[in-house]
Amino acid sequence: MTNDEFQRWFAHHRTCYPRIDAWLGRLKGEYDSKAVLRNWYKALQDVDLEDAMTATDAMFRGDFAEPREWDQHPSTIRKSAKGFAANRRTTTFESKPRFINGEPVYHCRDCLDQGLLTVWHPQSIKAMRDGTFGGTFTEYTCAVRCTCDAANKYRWIPHVFDDRKMVPSAYRPSDEDRQALADFVNAVPAVQAWNPADFNQDEGF
Ligand SMILES: [Zn+2]
Repeated sequence: MTNDEFQRWFAHHRTCYPRIDAWLGRLKGEYDSKAVLRNWYKALQDVDLEDAMTATDAMFRGDFAEPREWDQHPSTIRKSAKGFAANRRTTTFESKPRFINGEPVYHCRDCLDQGLLTVWHPQSIKAMRDGTFGGTFTEYTCAVRCTCDAANKYRWIPHVFDDRKMVPSAYRPSDEDRQALADFVNAVPAVQAWNPADFNQDEGF
């Protein structure tokens, strides 16, 4: 993002977390708050504005834990935003043929060698189970690592694909993806499906 885009993101972020202003205010005299924000910008420079906005919304909504310290906000937003970008990439290759002259084009038929899979977010699984799916903030997907070697470059993504708990979907879900989610929820006992509260933990999605 450009510096202007950073300003737009920060304007949005501070409306979600107005106490950032008080924190920055307290730094005055001791630290240069402009220099602090310049470092925030540096941390987010390689992130798309739209992904950073989405990450702020997701954090505000409680999809993942808010960091304890204000100065950890940029790294947390960056990690989440990068996940959205990676998530989007998993959908762009799906139009390629999977077989050429009967030979498989990819080593891994789960992720098609991308190392990532898009799955329904635990919040959506919960909504489907609770009968609130389709309402506001209920239709989300997220990226998880594949179990194959192609996923080695995505070690920073905490969750590994597990078909006992996760349901693949396109980044922008189709009706078939919604049906697959409904089928999964009907077939799998509630205890076995993800608990959204566990989403931020490194283990046990
Ligand atoms: Zn794979």
